[in-house]
Amino acid sequence: MEERSPWPGVIARYRPLIRLTPDAPVITLLEGNTPLIPAPRLAEALGLSCTLYLKYEGLNPTGSFKDRGMTVAVSQAVAEGARAVICASTGNTAASAAAYAARAGVRGIVVVPGGKIALGKLAASLAYGAQVLAIEGSFDDGLRLVREAVERYPVALVNSLNPYRLEGQKTAAFEVCDQLGDTPDWLVLPVGNAGNITAYWMGFTQYHAMGQIARLPRLLGVQAEGAAPLVRGHPIPHPETVATAIRIGNPARWREAAAALEESGGQVVAVPDEAILRTWSLLARTEGVFVEPASATGLAGLAQEVAAGRLSVQGKVVVAVLTGHGLKDPDTAMQQAGNPTSIPATLEAIAPYLEQI
Ligand SMILES: *Cc1c(COP(=O)(O)O)cnc(C)c1O
Repeated sequence: MEERSPWPGVIARYRPLIRLTPDAPVITLLEGNTPLIPAPRLAEALGLSCTLYLKYEGLNPTGSFKDRGMTVAVSQAVAEGARAVICASTGNTAASAAAYAARAGVRGIVVVPGGKIALGKLAASLAYGAQVLAIEGSFDDGLRLVREAVERYPVALVNSLNPYRLEGQKTAAFEVCDQLGDTPDWLVLPVGNAGNITAYWMGFTQYHAMGQIARLPRLLGVQAEGAAPLVRGHPIPHPETVATAIRIGNPARWREAAAALEESGGQVVAVPDEAILRTWSLLARTEGVFVEPASATGLAGLAQEVAAGRLSVQGKVVVAVLTGHGLKDPDTAMQQAGNPTSIPATLEAIAPYLEQI
């Protein structure tokens, strides 16, 4: 049998391609190596005549792609002597920072918008032992606050303003190309603070410059209608959407994301919450892939643009990035999917459901 070495995490796997202090300790939970799942039933349900793949980033150690960036950011912070890390977060960055801080043996401090963070993210952040500070304000307020805080206190900022976060997150682009053995025609993803779209473009252009891939993909970035600063062209003071992970009105990586979209010949579009939830449900019901609402946003945008005739993906290879796991947001899932049917524990009671088959 072939000898196979276990997956070593994204830093060890792509070490020469990642900018990180050479003697940094590698703080890892063996993140990355997420599956690229073919999704023909979903493509059909969405009216897409393309070859569709799902990059299921919800299978990272804390349930979102944030772990790819956090392993590098926390490793670098520890190399620089940090005793604590801090971030503002809509939830997933908080959970990831909390986990990697625990792994590194440093303190984690996470600032979240009070009452606006999904239950699974809050539970995890608390479980990992972080100091969770819920502010009366939005993610954008939180980011402003932590940027001020790191000017005065010796804590390392691990938001995606931190360039090491992007160094880690770009490994998802390497993986997509390695798994496909090629470049996809389109990469589709949700856009919130715009760090991930920036990181994917860094990864693709780096692989291209190295000759690992022969061409670059086009990027389709998708925002929720109530939180679509890139689409509207100005910050949104009070962003609102069911997709809490992308409820961001003034993205930190706005400029870089706009440049990536332009260079790739891509587009950024907005979708209503109803379309996000419809696509969220289809993902689970047609392919058995359960994601949090934000993660369905990219595909909702793709389906919308194709249906309107503004985009054609016929015969193309499309990769949709599913950014976070469905268990992150059980409240929205229950609201959408309904309650179980209660019955007595008897064969008579169960029979009608079996006779329907
Ligand atoms: C962070 C996050 C996003 C948005 O990524 P950005 O880098 O902020 O644009 C989308 N979906 C999920 C689940 C996330 O956690």
